[in-house]
This record gives sequence, structure tokens and C-alpha cells, in this order.
Amino acid sequence: MTEGLAAAFGEAFGRAPDGVWRAPGRVNLIGEHTDYNDGFVLPFALSRGVTVAAARRDDGVVEVRSRQASTAVTAPVDGPPVVSEGWPAERAWAAYPVGVARVLREHGTGGASLLIDSDLPQGAGLSSSAALECATALALCDLHGVEIDRPALARLAQRAENEQVGMPCGLMDQSASLLCKAGHALMLDCRSGLSSQVPFDPAAAGLTLLVVDTRASHALTGGEYGRRRAECEEAASLLGVDALRDVKDLAAALGSLKDPVLRRRVQHVVTENHRVEATVGLLRAGALPEFGAMLNASHLSLRDQFEVSWPEADATVDAALRAGARGGRMVGGGFGGSVIVLAPAARAERVGEAITAAYEKRGWTPPGFLEAVPSDGARRVS
Ligand code: ADP
Ligand code: MG
Repeated sequence: MTEGLAAAFGEAFGRAPDGVWRAPGRVNLIGEHTDYNDGFVLPFALSRGVTVAAARRDDGVVEVRSRQASTAVTAPVDGPPVVSEGWPAERAWAAYPVGVARVLREHGTGGASLLIDSDLPQGAGLSSSAALECATALALCDLHGVEIDRPALARLAQRAENEQVGMPCGLMDQSASLLCKAGHALMLDCRSGLSSQVPFDPAAAGLTLLVVDTRASHALTGGEYGRRRAECEEAASLLGVDALRDVKDLAAALGSLKDPVLRRRVQHVVTENHRVEATVGLLRAGALPEFGAMLNASHLSLRDQFEVSWPEADATVDAALRAGARGGRMVGGGFGGSVIVLAPAARAERVGEAITAAYEKRGWTPPGFLEAVPSDGARRVS
């Protein structure tokens, strides 16, 4: 892909790129709806990602093109938050790379010509947006000789998505894209931003981690996601803690909350944080197959306590377990997107077939499958 992209860059910009950078997408193993409660998440980087061929410019301009977008965008590096400029829909995609350039400018980077390519599905919950931001950020830093350590760069990329794109995302996606290592997942404390590497190599344990795209849309996510955040904030305030992460005595907390909905939300967030910590313990102990039970418990909690699952996700987990998978759960905000399934490698194919058959029986669009291999984070590739 790198050579083809460099050649395409030459055609688009009439010169060779100075280099090529690549940043991966991610899957969050466990720790769902914990990030905005100051809790723990455990993502790992995929082998799929966003690649950027780039050349430095010293005229204060960023020009971005993408093989996945029809509109090229040229914009000054100096400028207000992109979201405030009211770009038309066909330019919207460029808010990510231009936003990164505008945020990093304060740290000494400048303009560039960028050609983007990706083998990561967009909007499927695999974080193509952070991959795009992080590949762009690394390219700009290298081109302009600016050194920023990776945890700080993750914060800046997050800031670009928050302030420039106008998306109130947490720190997980950018941290995963920049900090992950092959054969590992990243334990991230969303309060402190501190992270550590946790060994996670399913293939070495005779297992396969499947990402199943349920092909169900996220239409409801916006409103429901905001509502869940508000419920968690309300519960934290009623319990007198800064965030639900600080609930130490779950039974006492549940006893003091009158609203059954808030009780269910608190139960999920508190137990999900415990599941992340338990998973880290299991992975460090090399007990990878046992971690399937954590996935199942997480899914039930997301379905019954946090109430964000959707029919295709429940059917996927159900069919996978019946076909011999060790565990599975919905991933992402909910109401659509993907499910992860942990299966013995020898049974992975049968599990996939069973899931497809379950969809067929219900007349649903067939699911998509991707084998997730924990991979390295963002880097310069040429
Ligand atoms: P996710 O991060 O889960 O894939 P998002 O909605 O956060 O979903 O980000 C997807 C958006 O990121 C796309 O709608 C598009 O604007 C932008 N994007 C991602 N990859 C590319 C790409 N290769 N080319 C152009 N824009 C991209
Ligand atoms: Mg995203």
C-alpha cells in the first residue's frame, strides 16, 4: 500500500512525499461506558488503519486528499476551530486532519500536503477517526521536527476531535492508536491518562478474536449516549462522588439510590471497572481462555443494566456461545456496531457460520467478520 500511495501522492501533488505514516484502529477488549466515568478501558490496536503520505509545506497551508473521500480540501493552518467555520458536508471529513494541524500549530508544526488511504471501515466503531488524527499528527510532527511524547500527542489528537470536529470523545481511541504494542492490550486509566501494557496474544493461546460487524446502524446512539452520560453524572452527584469510578461500596450505593434506572447504571459502571481489572489479572497470569467469562458478564451487564445492546448483538453472542465460543460481548456505545467473540482457533470458522446462520434465519443483512490481531501503534513506515 505504501508504494502505491507514494505514487498516487506524486500524481496528486506533482512531487514525491517526504514520508509515509500509519496509525491503526482499535477494539476495546473490555471496559464499556467506563471512560466518561473516569474508569478503566483495555483497548488493543488492529492491524488495519489509516496511512498518510505527506510532504512539508512552509506556506501555512494544509491540503488534504483521501482515497475514501471525493472532495480535496485546502485550508490555512491558522484559523478558528473548524467546527465554527460551518464547512459543508462534503468537506466534513477534512475537519479531522485540518483540526489536528490547527491544534498542533501551537506546538510548532506547520503546513503539509497529505494523501490519506485506509483499510479500516469508517463509522464501524473501530476508530477510523482517531487513526486519521494520529497518522496526521505523527506526520506533522516529523515533517516539522517537533517532538511530543506519545501520551501528550494522544491528548492533543483528542483535543482536535473535541474542539475542532466538535465530537466529545474520551482519550481511549487516540491512546490506543499511539501507544499500543503488538501482542498486548493497553490498560488505560481514563482519569490519570496513565497506561500500561498487558500481554494479549490470542493466537499464541490457540484462540481467535473475531470482530463481527452486526450491520445494524447507530441511528439512536446520539440521544441515548447523551442520556447515559447524564444518568451517570446524576448518580455520581447523588452519591456525592466526583465520578462513578469512586464508588467503593456498591451495595451501599445501590441501597441509597431510589431510582431503579440509576441503580442499574451504577451497577454496570462499577462492576465493569472490576471486570477490566480482573481481565488484566487473568491476562497477566496467562489465563486467556478464562477471560471469555468476563466478556459474557460484560455483555449481560450492558444488555440488562446499562440497556444499550441491540437484537443483532444479542443474537451474535448467543449463536457464538452455542457454537463453542468462550465468550463475546457488544462493543462501543451501543444500539449498533460490532460484537467481539473469543473462540478456540479450531472452532472459529464454525462459530462464524453459526452467527451467519442466525442472521439468515431472521432475515437480517449478513454480518461482516474480521480477525483481530493485537498490533503495533502508529509509526512512520517510510
Ligand atoms: P469511527 O471512528 O468509529 O470509524 P467516527 O464517526 O468517529 O467513526 O469517524 C468516522 C469519520 O472519520 C468519517 O465519517 C470520516 O469523516 C473520517 N474518516 C475516517 N477515515 C477516513 C478516510 N480514510 N478518509 C476520509 N475521512 C475519513
Ligand atoms: Mg471515532
